[in-house]
Order: sequence, then structure tokens, then C-alpha cells
Amino acid sequence: MYEAVVIGSGPAGLNAALYLKRAGKNVIVIEKEYEGTGQIVQSICVENYLGFQPLSGEELGERFRRHVLSEYVPILEDEVTEIIHKDTWHVILLSGKTVEAETLIYAAGASPRKLGISGEETYQGKGMSYCAYCDGSLYKGKDTAVIGGGDTALDDAMYLSELCRKVYLIHRRAEFKGNEAAVEILKKKENVEFILETSVREIKGQKRLEEILLDNGKKISVTGLFVAIGSLPAADLIEKYVQRDENGYVIAGEDGLTSSSGLFVAGDVRTKKLRQVITAVSDGANAAASAIHYLKFCRKR
Ligand code: NAP
Repeated sequence: MYEAVVIGSGPAGLNAALYLKRAGKNVIVIEKEYEGTGQIVQSICVENYLGFQPLSGEELGERFRRHVLSEYVPILEDEVTEIIHKDTWHVILLSGKTVEAETLIYAAGASPRKLGISGEETYQGKGMSYCAYCDGSLYKGKDTAVIGGGDTALDDAMYLSELCRKVYLIHRRAEFKGNEAAVEILKKKENVEFILETSVREIKGQKRLEEILLDNGKKISVTGLFVAIGSLPAADLIEKYVQRDENGYVIAGEDGLTSSSGLFVAGDVRTKKLRQVITAVSDGANAAASAIHYLKFCRKR
């Protein structure tokens, strides 16, 4: 039996594993399928990770992984199909194996909700992005568009308006779901144009995104398109052990504590304001500290 099992090998999970291992704990990481270190693999250029000059998300993730592997933390590639809590945590895998541990750190992340329109897959990383804070600086002085009507879309439009020549904010309704004060500030910005009661029908371009087609028949020329229509936390596997908010995120503070003893969450899957690599890494350290505390004072054996 392990002292800790970490589910998810993104920045949150890997850093949790690193902290646990360095505290002398017997820890294993389980990842579904190695395709890079979580969502950051989709970032062409990470410019805001302290201590690193701009580098690709893939390269940053590889460095995280190499660091963890250099501490001899096992990373098992297998899909978790079920999690059962008796006195300890039993992680049932697709291969038929079961991993048992005294504590479980769940860091399975979240994925951006997709538009489901033509061109979306083709232009991802070629002008289309789901993270303005990650990729916005690539579009300095350029014309961009944001799709969405919630707080993320408003935040993204605000952020991009400081960098870009023009920002179109496209929302399918007449009213925004996000903060009214932010809407008022955006309305006053000369380089922000609202396109309301409109959906994007298609994304087009040669090698990179060049144009978006709207459902009213109009076309807009942009080099960057940011989709901010919500995200889907991967929390179903622990559903019966945690409380979730109205968007499905696991309700937990910075310490990662959940309503179940010995279960901690870290990274994008938990309720938090800013979902970034740096906050995921920090969550991993905090959740590991909580697990270490649990193993010291609350363990069952
Ligand atoms: P959200 O609140 O769920 O908003 C998603 C928006 O995308 C909605 O306006 C929705 O339109 C639109 N949408 C959904 N599917 C769409 C589709 N297929 N095509 C076009 N539009 C679509 O998501 P979020 O903005 O990411 O925010 C998530 C949570 O984080 C919220 O609770 C938010 O308050 C919080 N948050 C807070 C801050 C902050 O405090 N500064 C910043 C970011 C996020 P409808 O309106 O038509 O449903």
C-alpha cells in the first residue's frame, strides 16, 4: 500500500508528488495517457512562469516531469475507472489493477468547453486559443476576438484590450452573464467592440486562422480568437466523496481539503479564481502538505 496516490500528471499532480516524495512518503502518480504534462502542452509559448524565459508548454511540462522522475516517483499510465473509499483509498484501473493508498490527491484538471464548430480543431494553436492569459501576448498590436459572455470572457477581453489593436467580444445573447461593472468598463474602451446576439459559425484561414464567419453572414478578420465559454472539470470519479459548485468544480480551499478524510484536490479541478500553471503548481504543494499532515496526525493505522 502507498502512503499517497496522485491522480493526474499535470503541474498540480506532479508537484504534489514531488513534495510528498521529498517528505519521504511512498507515492505513486497515475495518468490516463501521456500526451504531455496536462493542458499546458497546448500552450505554444508560456511567458509568465516565473524564472523561465518564454518556452513552449510542452517543454515546461517535460521539465516538470523529468524533475519528478529524477526523484524516482513512479508514474503509472493507466485509466482510473473507479475510486472506492473504505478505510483507505482504492483506485481501480482499466487494466484490472487496483492501487491502494492512505491518501488520495486528485488533480485530474479541467478542460475548456468546445464550440463544436468547423475549424475549431484545425486552428487550435494556430490562432485559436482557450486561454487569453497564456497566449494573449502573442497578439500584441493585432486584431482579436473573444467568444463568451461570462466572467472569463469579460476578463479576457479586458486583458486583450491592453495588448491588442482591436478586440471583438462576441456573445450569443443580448445580456452578459458576467460582472456588470466589467461590461461597463469594456463598453467605454475604444478598441473593444461588442457583437451581441451572434454566434460564430465557422473559423477559416490558410495556414493560420484569418477569418471568422458569424451566423448573421458577416465575416471578421482576426489573427487571434479566444474561446471562453466555460470549462468542464474532470471530477466525476470523486463525485460521491466531495461537494461541487454549480459549475462542477470541487469545493476546496488552497489547502485542498475536501469533505472526505484523506482526499485532497489540487489544480484546475477545484474552486479557484485563477487557473494557471503557477497556481496549479502551488496547489500541488499545498495539497501535499495537507496529505503529509494527515499522514502524521490522522492516519488510520
Ligand atoms: P460561465 O460563467 O459558465 O460562462 C460561459 C459563457 O459562455 C456564458 O455566457 C455562455 O452563454 C457562453 N457559452 C456557453 N456555451 C457556449 C457556446 N457553445 N457558444 C457560445 N457561447 C457559449 O463560464 P466562465 O466565464 O468561464 O466562468 C466560470 C466561473 O468562474 C463563473 O462562476 C465565473 O463567475 C467564475 N470566474 C470569475 C472570475 C472573476 O471573478 N474575475 C473570472 C473568471 C471566471 P449563455 O450566457 O448563453 O449561457
